Amino acid sequence: MAQCRITEIFYSLQGESRTVGLPTVFVRLTGCPLRCGYCDTEYAFHGGQKMDIEEIVAKVAAFNPRYVCVTGGEPLAQPNCIPLLTTLCDRGYEVSLETSGAMDISQVDKRVSRVMDLKTPGSGEESKNRYENIELLNAHDQLKFVVCHRDDYDWAKEKLHQHQLNERCEVLFSPIHGQLQPAELAEWVVEDNLPVRMQIQMHKYLWGEEKGR
Ligand code: SF4
Repeated sequence: MAQCRITEIFYSLQGESRTVGLPTVFVRLTGCPLRCGYCDTEYAFHGGQKMDIEEIVAKVAAFNPRYVCVTGGEPLAQPNCIPLLTTLCDRGYEVSLETSGAMDISQVDKRVSRVMDLKTPGSGEESKNRYENIELLNAHDQLKFVVCHRDDYDWAKEKLHQHQLNERCEVLFSPIHGQLQPAELAEWVVEDNLPVRMQIQMHKYLWGEEKGR
């Protein structure tokens, strides 16, 4: 039986993306090959517990959710994330995957909404971006820039235009919590009339940095 290493499974409100505010089960896989300077889930880098896919799915089912978000860490760093996603889709959930953009997304089940980062220079991990992923994105997916400062914003704007990202999928601009004022990013987006969705991490306003929220 295929297994994944799991840091936590919990029920909360989705704090970002297209389904923000909707009750969602989060399945957090352990481990990440990146080290973004602003990472808020370092506790998921190590440890965790090996679980069979059926065991994971049973835990999810106990919450009776409509939405399930597979996150990390970097979930795709574990090969068995692929069959886990497919099993969740087969059970009828609306499944999303949060991924760093550094791993190949081509094998992810087509029913999954991939929420993929493009790492900005401010993350310190820009060199890990796997640009081949961009052409795999479609209208069901979302592409997210976490913006740390004005230079990151200008970089993201350039990538947006260069790859015509908004014609491929929904594009999200998110200010780094506690570092860039959301209102400042909002003003830049409006001033430039960018075809993106500005978002804030709602869960941080509700619960701060509390784990399992
Ligand atoms: S990719 Fe995500 S989990 Fe990994 S270091 Fe960056 S922010 Fe943290």
